Amino acid sequence: MHAVAFDKTGTLTRGKLRVTRVVAAEGFDEAEVVRMAGAVEAGSAHPAAEAVRHEARRRGIAQAARGTLARTFTVLEGRGVSAEVEGRRVYVGNSRLFEEIGSPSGATGTMMPPGEDEGSRTITLVGTEQGIAGFLEMEDEVRPEAREAVHSLASLGVRHAVMLTGDRDDVARAAGESVGIEEVLSGLLPDDKLRKVEALVASYGTVAMVGDGVNDAPALALASVGIAMGAAGSPAAIETADVALMAEDLRKVPEAVVLGRRMVSVIRQNVVASLAIKAGFLVAAVSGYATLWMAVAADMGTTLLVIGNGMRLLKKTERPV
Ligand code: ADP
Ligand code: MG
Repeated sequence: MHAVAFDKTGTLTRGKLRVTRVVAAEGFDEAEVVRMAGAVEAGSAHPAAEAVRHEARRRGIAQAARGTLARTFTVLEGRGVSAEVEGRRVYVGNSRLFEEIGSPSGATGTMMPPGEDEGSRTITLVGTEQGIAGFLEMEDEVRPEAREAVHSLASLGVRHAVMLTGDRDDVARAAGESVGIEEVLSGLLPDDKLRKVEALVASYGTVAMVGDGVNDAPALALASVGIAMGAAGSPAAIETADVALMAEDLRKVPEAVVLGRRMVSVIRQNVVASLAIKAGFLVAAVSGYATLWMAVAADMGTTLLVIGNGMRLLKKTERPV
């Protein structure tokens, strides 16, 4: 394997977002922003949706009835979600979504008081085509083992690691820096992730993609090896991937590489050894030296040898450096 692509949210980070701040635009209050967002996110399985619902519960804001929303709920992949709330179409998502629907979102810049580590927080906007009602600032946590996993892969000879995310650039860069990935591509739609993996396959040959979301599924399918984050991953990601990490531990990625390499080398040894023994025996038989017992020993011996060699794989993989 020569290159590996990682999704950010839910893969390099835990994907357990927490609302750290709610900011309302003029004419709105925080509770209304949370209520609108909560109503739309009632139908979404995205990590951001869980954070919004949690914030609504925490503030004691009633959740909308699911039934009426379900009919108008739509997912705008890699950007956000929308649904009709009390007769108006409300959008919840990133700035790209609001640019696309032509909603005047210019005001968000001025609404955002400069926080110290603002760059590491995801901003989820709430509004309609007429304008922004406010936004929620969300924080995610980089998985503690992510840096070690990226480092191990590099020491195993994986030449290139890249992060592919739908999140905004400064958040993505902050996460990239803390896990040790230099190439960070942000603001990507599922199609963009697919195209990047395609380009990596063209220039590096064997490429692994690690992801968790529905938006990662096309890229997981196209990569030489698709690896899905097990328990927290979306069903679409798990179904399209070749490997699912049930333990949710990114260090399993380098471990799988080590195990895979050992397996290939054991298979090679077995093929070479059994062919060599058979060839040797054939020569002995043709030149009249072979006895029946030699034939039995060659046959059984090879079988046992191959089994024994294969069993070595059961030995625990040593942690790569
Ligand atoms: P990633 O590639 O990092 O896993 P996604 O492709 O799932 O992220 O989402 C990209 C961006 O779209 C997110 O950073 C978020 O801003 C926005 N987004 C997607 N789905 C939702 C949602 N249900 N609610 C709010 N924002 C969303
Ligand atoms: Mg993700």
